[in-house]
Amino acid sequence: MPDSPFTESPKTLPPKQESRENSASSPPRAEGAPAPPAAGFNQLDLSDVMLSALAAAAYHEPSPVQAGFIPRALTGGDVLGQARTGTGKTAAFAIPILERIDQAKRGRRPSALVLVPTRELAVQVRDEIAKLALGRKTRCLAVYGGKPIRSQISQLERGSDIVVGTPGRVLDLLARGPLQLEQLQCVVLDEADRMLDIGFRPDIEKILRRCPKERQTLLLSATIDKGVERLARRYMVKPEIMDFSPLTKAAETIEQHYFTVEEMRKFELLVKLLKRESPEQAIVFCRTKRGTDRVHRKLSQKIKGVECIHGDMQQGARDRVMRAFRESKVRILVATDVVGRGIDVTNISHIINYDMPQSSDDYVHRVGRTGRMGREGVAYLFVTPEQGTELTRIEMLINSQLNRDEIEGFQAVAQAAPPQQAPIDDAPPEPKPPPPGQRPRRRHRRGL
Ligand code: AMP
Repeated sequence: MPDSPFTESPKTLPPKQESRENSASSPPRAEGAPAPPAAGFNQLDLSDVMLSALAAAAYHEPSPVQAGFIPRALTGGDVLGQARTGTGKTAAFAIPILERIDQAKRGRRPSALVLVPTRELAVQVRDEIAKLALGRKTRCLAVYGGKPIRSQISQLERGSDIVVGTPGRVLDLLARGPLQLEQLQCVVLDEADRMLDIGFRPDIEKILRRCPKERQTLLLSATIDKGVERLARRYMVKPEIMDFSPLTKAAETIEQHYFTVEEMRKFELLVKLLKRESPEQAIVFCRTKRGTDRVHRKLSQKIKGVECIHGDMQQGARDRVMRAFRESKVRILVATDVVGRGIDVTNISHIINYDMPQSSDDYVHRVGRTGRMGREGVAYLFVTPEQGTELTRIEMLINSQLNRDEIEGFQAVAQAAPPQQAPIDDAPPEPKPPPPGQRPRRRHRRGL
C-alpha cells in the first residue's frame, strides 16, 4: 500500500504561461520543473477552518494534483489542469473556491459556478464541496436535468454561494431568471473534454458569455485535445497549463487482461468470469443503452445484486442505483460510458469491458474506475476476432500490453479464427495459442 492514496505525480509543474487569448497557436505545454515533494496541507497557505475540514475528511496529504493546482488557483489566475477523476481533482478546485469566496457577498447570488457533464457528477461534486465547507455557512447547490426544476428554482431563490450543474439545466435556470451570474468570481469547467464529447459546446459557450469578464476560470480535463484548447484560448486569460496525466495513463495498480471471444458468446463468458472472480464490486461496460438493458436483464436471472444505469433512465432511478452501488448494496453495475465516467466508488474491484469502448481514451476512463485511491483493481476487455486493431490501439495509448486470459470453454477462438492481415501466400505456419496469461509472440498474429 503506498503512503499516499494517490499514485500519480504531475509530469511537470509549469512556469507562468503567456496569454493565449486570440492567439492561433496551441496552448504552450508545461515543461521543466519537476513535481515538488508532497507537502502537507498546512504548507499550502490555507485557513484554519479549511485545515479543520480537511482533517475531518481524513485528507492528510494533498494529492499531486492538489499540491500543484491549489497554490496557483489561490492566486486568482486561470488554471488549466490535465487530470482525470480519482486524482483528487474536485478538492483541487473546491478548496481555492471556498477560500476565495468574498464573505461580503456571500449567501445570495452564486460566487462560483461549476459545470459538469453528468448528473451523477453534479451530485458527487456538490457532496465533495459540502464536505470541505465544514465550519462555513457556504451554501452549495446541485442543479441538473431529470429532477423537477421548481425545487431547484426555490433553492436558488433562497440564496447560494456555489452552484454545480449540467450545462443544459444551468442555461434553463438562467433563461427563467432564478440563476444570476453577476456576482460570479469563479467558473469551473470540470471534465471539459467529456462535456465537449457529448455536445455541450454551444451551451457552455452561451453560459461563459453571460459570466462577468472579471472572473477566474478553472478548467479540468482528462485529455487536452483541439476542442479543449479552443475553449481555453477563447475563454481563459493567461491560463497556467498543468499536466497531471499519469505517464502510463492507466494506474499502475490495475491489472489489465483481455479475452478473445466471439460476439455471440460474450454473455456466456461474462457469467463464467463473474463466477471465477466473484468481484467485490464490478462495473460491466456496454456500448449502447439497449445492450446495457439486455445484459442487465439476462444477468439478473443468473446472479443477485445486479443493476444497470444509462442515460435513458429516469433521474430518480439513476440516483437510486448510484446510491445503492455506493453503499455496496449493488455488486454488479451494468453501465454505458456516459454514466460510467466520473463514478467515484472506491470499492470497485473489477472493470469488465463487455463491449469494446468507442475510443481508446474511453478505455482509460473506464479502467480508471477501479484501482482508485491506490487500491488494487483488475480490468478485463472482451475482444472479438475483428477487433485486434482496437486492442493494439489501446495498448499503444497505455504503452503496455494487456495480458491474454483464458477460461474453460473459451480457448477455442484463438485456434479457430484465421489470421486476417497477411495474404495467404505470405502467411507463416499457424502459431500455437500461448498459454493463459502469456502474450502471443507476434502482435499482428495474435489469433483473434
Ligand atoms: P476526485 O478525483 O475528485 O473524484 O477524488 C477521488 C476521491 O479521492 C474522492 O473520494 C475524494 O473524496 C478523495 N480525496 C480527495 N482528496 C483527497 C486527499 N487529499 N486525501 C484522501 N482522499 C482524498
